[in-house]
Amino acid sequence: MKKTLAMILLTSTALAANAQADDFNYNNEKFADIQMLRYKVEGFESLTPKQKAYIYYLTEAALQGRDILFDQNGRYNLRIRRMLETVYTKYNGNRNSADFKAFATYLKRVWFSAGIHHHYGQEKFEPGFSQEWLQQALQSVGYNAPVADLMPVIFEPKVMPMRVNQKDGDDLLLTSAENYYGEGITQAEAEEFYTLRKAPLDPCPVMTGMNSRLVKENGVLREKVWREHGLYGSAISKIIENLLKAKPFAENEQQRKVIDRLVEFYRTGDLRTFDEYSILWLKETEGLVDFVCGFTETYGDPLGLKASWEAIVNFKDLEATKRTRKLSDNASWFEQNAPIDSRFKKENVKGISAKVITAAILGGDLYPSTAIGINLPNSDWVRKEHGSKSVTIANLTGAYAKSAHGSGFDQEFIIDEATRKLIRQYGDACDDLHTDLHECLGHASGKLLPGTDPDTLKAYGATIEEGRADLFALYYLGDPKLVELGLTPNMDAYKSEYYTYMMNGLMTQLVRIKPGLNIEEAHMRNRSFIAHWAYEHGKSDNVVELVKKKGKTYVKINDYERLRQLFAQLLAEVQRIKSEGDYEAARQLVENYGVKVDQKLHAEVLKRYEALHLAPYKGFINPVYTPQFDAQGRIVDVTVSYDEAYDAQMLRYSRDYNTLPDVND
Ligand code: ZN
Repeated sequence: MKKTLAMILLTSTALAANAQADDFNYNNEKFADIQMLRYKVEGFESLTPKQKAYIYYLTEAALQGRDILFDQNGRYNLRIRRMLETVYTKYNGNRNSADFKAFATYLKRVWFSAGIHHHYGQEKFEPGFSQEWLQQALQSVGYNAPVADLMPVIFEPKVMPMRVNQKDGDDLLLTSAENYYGEGITQAEAEEFYTLRKAPLDPCPVMTGMNSRLVKENGVLREKVWREHGLYGSAISKIIENLLKAKPFAENEQQRKVIDRLVEFYRTGDLRTFDEYSILWLKETEGLVDFVCGFTETYGDPLGLKASWEAIVNFKDLEATKRTRKLSDNASWFEQNAPIDSRFKKENVKGISAKVITAAILGGDLYPSTAIGINLPNSDWVRKEHGSKSVTIANLTGAYAKSAHGSGFDQEFIIDEATRKLIRQYGDACDDLHTDLHECLGHASGKLLPGTDPDTLKAYGATIEEGRADLFALYYLGDPKLVELGLTPNMDAYKSEYYTYMMNGLMTQLVRIKPGLNIEEAHMRNRSFIAHWAYEHGKSDNVVELVKKKGKTYVKINDYERLRQLFAQLLAEVQRIKSEGDYEAARQLVENYGVKVDQKLHAEVLKRYEALHLAPYKGFINPVYTPQFDAQGRIVDVTVSYDEAYDAQMLRYSRDYNTLPDVND
């Protein structure tokens, strides 16, 4: 599970105080609703040559799977990307024309989303140029491959309108454009296929369906497994090759075992091997360098079964990790004191390891849009029996924060100077702490009742799980225990996070939604249902208000302690829903509080936000690693640089990590 950037808000002045003088250029180009950033790999130079070589080959593995994600996100994405790239690099017409500029923006969005749909909102991009213009441009560059079937996919709004449709009542597979299920397979068929394959009494159930496409051939459903010599085999071979190149440079025996087992999984596609790999991986906590490189999160599948390919290579931030150590060392205390029914508590919390890390490269579904915290593995039984590993990615949260300097956002949306001051003082630290709590303790807490199928909540599963982790974090941020542990300075600090969380969930996250649309993305739905539920249930006591000042709406929190009790109450209910697998309650909660948008407030928020000229989404350009070899071809050093442009990076990746054919069937 991952945590994405929760707050649109990252206060300007908050960071002026914290950020050291730093001439690194965090902000890069802006297009459509995207602001590109760079991140700095602080500390890379002081690693040993061996660690640098290890990281280098792992980053190569992390880039080899890029084409997989494009194909997972839609069956035409690779063909479209390659067609557009040909025009982008070869076009000799007027590159300053409105058509070409709109075309370039469209391609930048396709790169960013690994496909033709918005990475967050899921809706298909509207091209700002005409089909005639594109066809002429293709002719002018001598593009010969067939394009007729791609035109409606790009230009017809009704064709493949959503990548992941979560609308209650729709057939989620027939109405979603993702490529995890073959064409024409209905939701009922897929659900039946996977229900029949579950072994209800298996104490160690594998994540059935996680690494395959479900297809129908001659009327019969079957899986095409992603593995070497299987579907995506040519990309997977390149990933394996680079993992094996990294292996001799590993820091310890356990890391070598992790690589071996991951390679075995890539070769066989056997999900038991994947669980074995996960257990080895979560127990490897001694080394400085770590990585994720594979089929991981299921947000891209409307049924929440199939995992998109992602990668991150990182190394430990030793100083900041002292903070998360305090949480993981006290994990049992947090579990025992959580405001949930004791039937749903873990008797003993096993093996939560938490660390703060520096990202060295982002790949697949973590690039360019990324997570700021990750907790893995996702298998319920593995987590229960063996624990999990949780990270907060400090150089990315730091880059977000520094890039937001002076944005004017807090001035526009926070109710008064006293609240702004509170957030200036504590907001930054509490944001990081919220991520730590969410990942390290939130996801790891609680248990399913015996016999509860972990997939019972179906399309609502991800939203409920993210909400549970957020509520756990919110509840404990306001706990005196954090002051006692020295993690928050006093009992005022948590209020900064409560304010920004409520403001974000009730109002400001709407800047990411187009007028007239509902909330689709799991993390946004979870923030929305938490904020709206607390708002509605606190109404009789006037806990949180929406007030008007000069025609503008603001969130006003009258009673922070009572708000904390509401979070506790909701946490208890969400934990019950998860532990019992209460699908109907999950549906009610999410549909009633998490999905619908107040049109009038939405229009107001969009108008105020527009005046600030900010981009609601951010993503990162990767650094470039350059290896140095000796006369025998052995790697002796690796340097890092930060000057590659966004389009140059994407074109280079398309050229050098071109691992899949146009059509993958
Ligand atoms: Zn999460």
